Amino acid sequence: MAAVTADRSAIRVKQGLGRAVILLGPPGAGKGTQAQRIAQRYSLPHLSTGDMFRDNISRGTEIGRKAKALMERGELVPDEIVLGMVEDRISQPDCAKGFVFDGFPRTLPQADDLEHICKQYNLGCTIVLHMVVDPALLMRRLTGRRICKAGGHIYNVYERPPKQEGICDIDGSELIHRPDDSEGVIGERLAAYDRQTQPLVEYYTLRGLLSPVDAMAAVDTVSESITRILDGANALK
Ligand code: ADP
Repeated sequence: MAAVTADRSAIRVKQGLGRAVILLGPPGAGKGTQAQRIAQRYSLPHLSTGDMFRDNISRGTEIGRKAKALMERGELVPDEIVLGMVEDRISQPDCAKGFVFDGFPRTLPQADDLEHICKQYNLGCTIVLHMVVDPALLMRRLTGRRICKAGGHIYNVYERPPKQEGICDIDGSELIHRPDDSEGVIGERLAAYDRQTQPLVEYYTLRGLLSPVDAMAAVDTVSESITRILDGANALK
């Protein structure tokens, strides 16, 4: 049985990037936008804990019920709830060739758990893209953010407005303003980032896994920087 598992793992690593790609940065840094592009370019599943929670809330599941009030206040959901949900998702076959994660890990125990999962599935070294932004920009990015209901396409009414107000250019569906993208809640989300997620910068720096990305550049320029990092890491594999 162990030999069969090892063979399967060897096959997994040869496909795709064979790694976890993590986008680390505060709310509004552009993680979701870039994760969508990475997923498309490298044929990887795009995982987002925020989207998983929103999906659970709209389906009225137990996870959704536990997460809802915390999310509305801009606080993090407890690690044990996040970890069960993430482990379930990563165990699905489409994650075997690697995945791109936006919104996870967000605490030190989550980072430890991810390393454990990557070892278990024989994935290569995690690539952590640290999206570096000027905090003064974030409020405008978040209050202006609109998300397409059907496909999750992301717009900003100030910087990247849709052609027709309230309608997605790509699939014509309605654009929504996330309830936690209001000014009061954004302040708490940024504070939670500083308190609980910022320590991951040191955690991954010490492990030599962190690649800084200038996330204040134009969206296409940020994508080009990320592609250079990922192609470079892939060539070294
Ligand atoms: P953003 O990165 O723009 O703040 P997300 O959609 O990633 O937004 O997350 C929305 C909310 O979902 C967070 O404020 C938090 O309450 C919850 N959440 C998402 N991911 C995690 C996580 N890994 N750990 C704890 N809570 C999380």
